Amino acid sequence: MEVGFLGLGIMGKAMSMNLLKNGFKVTVWNRTLSKCDELVEHGASVCETPAEVIKKCKYTIAMLSDPSAALSVVFDKDGVLEQICEGKGYIDMSTVDAETSVKINEAITGKGGRFVEGPVSGSKKPAEDGQLIILAAGDKALFEESIPAFDVLGKKSFFLGQVGNGAKMKLIVNMIMGSMMNAFSEGLVLADKSGLSSNTLLDILDLGAMTNPMFKGKGPSMNKSSYPPAFPLKHQQKDMRLALALGDENAVSMPVAAAANEAFKKARSLGLGDLDFSAVIEAIKFSRE
Ligand code: NAP
Repeated sequence: MEVGFLGLGIMGKAMSMNLLKNGFKVTVWNRTLSKCDELVEHGASVCETPAEVIKKCKYTIAMLSDPSAALSVVFDKDGVLEQICEGKGYIDMSTVDAETSVKINEAITGKGGRFVEGPVSGSKKPAEDGQLIILAAGDKALFEESIPAFDVLGKKSFFLGQVGNGAKMKLIVNMIMGSMMNAFSEGLVLADKSGLSSNTLLDILDLGAMTNPMFKGKGPSMNKSSYPPAFPLKHQQKDMRLALALGDENAVSMPVAAAANEAFKKARSLGLGDLDFSAVIEAIKFSRE
């Protein structure tokens, strides 16, 4: 199977590499073109614009930072819309809001193409290991044709119905994650400031009902103030912002998520946006000083 891949950030690089390793012919594009080099070394072809990728490939996957990036790659000059046509499928796996996804769907289908949104749950390591959870929605036939690729990228693919449902589900999942990360960070800081060992707190949490891979995976490095970016904090704050907007639309009161969003905003204002989202603990430490 031949696929195009637009966006080689933390996730896109790992995902396209996985497709290559599993025998897919992959044609890549990235805004900063030099990031394609490593993929080319592993057998990928490269194009200079998203339009060229679409022209070459029947199926193209995108993994871009946010709504404005997702829209720009589709609508701007040399973008996806210039070449999308009947017989071609576009699968956007970026985390965006439902409105963005609907806009992209209308434009793609307006030109005769087919569209699936497929945001993912899981971070850098699951992306490298092909263990993502895919939250797809849109054109059912395109979803089914994409299963060979989804099976390489993920451990489970959900089909959630109409376009927008995948985006909403993903935002809800990440809203919960962002709130959990804040509660966890407050606990670690409070343990430390109260004269307790935050490492012992990790051991205790790990033995009880609150144990989870996120606390287990991130806790030890957070206790060393180390935040190598697996999921950049600026993207987590974008997801909180978009989830809160979904809450506004549906009149759902979400004070916990709103407070978590403030902490991520604070962390961004401290220049921590490119670090892992666990660096939000630094904003909590900062606010105590
Ligand atoms: P990332 O490392 O920041 O990569 C972002 C990608 O978007 C890069 O390829 C970047 O190109 C591209 N981009 C940004 N603005 C653009 C624009 N205006 N036009 C064209 N391309 C643009 O982010 P990531 O961690 O891979 O995340 C990608 C998406 O997956 C995000 O929506 C994120 O929320 C979601 N996600 C991430 C994780 C995770 O753990 N990292 C997990 C699940 C979902 P350049 O290289 O040129 O900057």
